[in-house]
Amino acid sequence: MAAPSSPTPTAAVLTGLEAVRSWAADLYRDLHAHPELSHEEHATASKVAERLGASGIEVHTGVGGTGVIGVLRNGEGPVVLLRADMDALPVAEATGLDYASHATAADAEGNEVPVMHACGHDMHVACLLGAAHLLAAGRGHWAGTVIAVFQPAEETGDGARGMLDDGLAARLAKVDVALAQHVLPAPSGLVGTHVGPTLSAADSMRITLHGRGAHGSMPQAAVDPVVLAAMIVVRLQMIVARETRPGEPVVVTVGSIRAGTKSNVIPDHAVIELNVRTYSEATRTSVLDAIKRIVDAECQASRCPKPADYELFDRFPLTSNDAETTDKVAAAFASHFGERARSLPMQTASEDFSDIPNAFGVPYCYWGIGGIDPATYEKAEQAGRVAQDIPVNHSAHFAPVIQPTLDTGIQAMVVAALAWLAPPRAGEQ
Ligand code: ZN
Ligand code: ZN
Repeated sequence: MAAPSSPTPTAAVLTGLEAVRSWAADLYRDLHAHPELSHEEHATASKVAERLGASGIEVHTGVGGTGVIGVLRNGEGPVVLLRADMDALPVAEATGLDYASHATAADAEGNEVPVMHACGHDMHVACLLGAAHLLAAGRGHWAGTVIAVFQPAEETGDGARGMLDDGLAARLAKVDVALAQHVLPAPSGLVGTHVGPTLSAADSMRITLHGRGAHGSMPQAAVDPVVLAAMIVVRLQMIVARETRPGEPVVVTVGSIRAGTKSNVIPDHAVIELNVRTYSEATRTSVLDAIKRIVDAECQASRCPKPADYELFDRFPLTSNDAETTDKVAAAFASHFGERARSLPMQTASEDFSDIPNAFGVPYCYWGIGGIDPATYEKAEQAGRVAQDIPVNHSAHFAPVIQPTLDTGIQAMVVAALAWLAPPRAGEQ
């Protein structure tokens, strides 16, 4: 008679999920009700540190401002970095949930604004704390090191860089792979992976055009920056239409244009703010170069007294999942989640997570988990009303259903980490 087969390391580690579920849900509701803006995640960071400590994990606080790192050393083996972002957005919550946020805070300019976890980062934190606890409790079933990174200020695109500038790489001797997840407007319970470019690079640019002011009745005395700005906005449309390869997604959007104060005064300057989304470094460079080339040429054509000023801001790196790493995660997901493991379409959003693995020079995988009640999603899909009825990230109505989102996110982190820390033996699925 064959002996009963012992459970896989993943199954053994996940036996603790039952006990984690209830505190993780309480913690999630607490984080959701008390969101904090980018760089201001003080209370969130202390809750994270306290929970990591209670799970018996070594804690480092104040990394790049409010960043927290949990280190779980468990003998020789791979070093797996797991990352969650912690910040919320200046949005007035309209979900009507009994744990909805009523918080307000001063933004970077000192204005009092509403604050809401409208991007689901509270869920990322709760899932990673749950996963870290399970890995700590189940350390007899794997070997290596887990580094749980709780990152501030993802929404402003500078939180990961802040942690790196504060010596994140120096504190961690070695990392082999980095993993992160994001809750998305898809049915809860699903996980999705995508090989290659997954999230776009994003760059915002502020361009100040210098003209010469004059009376509106005397255009001969002016260099009109309003006409110049108008020519530039139209001409910039040619970059995507005429300079990039058909089929490659590129976005150039002029989101703001400001000039003048009065109908009969020609102003002396105009300011254009634009946003660029690209999916390869080569295209990113060529599009940013094309913008400057066009603006410089239009300024020259308009006889500007001096060249335009350029300022890049809100910059996010490209998120491009390594093929081998992602295949490994996808195989582990397929084995654990079965039908619930899917492929994720390319997203037009952007993230600063990849700054971390890029600084270490290591591969990464960034996957999506669904957050919408499956029945609600299915109803919207059947009515052909997904775009209208399903709230997306950053909407005042976006809040993932706690279950099965929380269980799925905890399991996804554990399953993916164990693909390195307790790789399946030959013959095992
Ligand atoms: Zn967001
Ligand atoms: Zn987000």
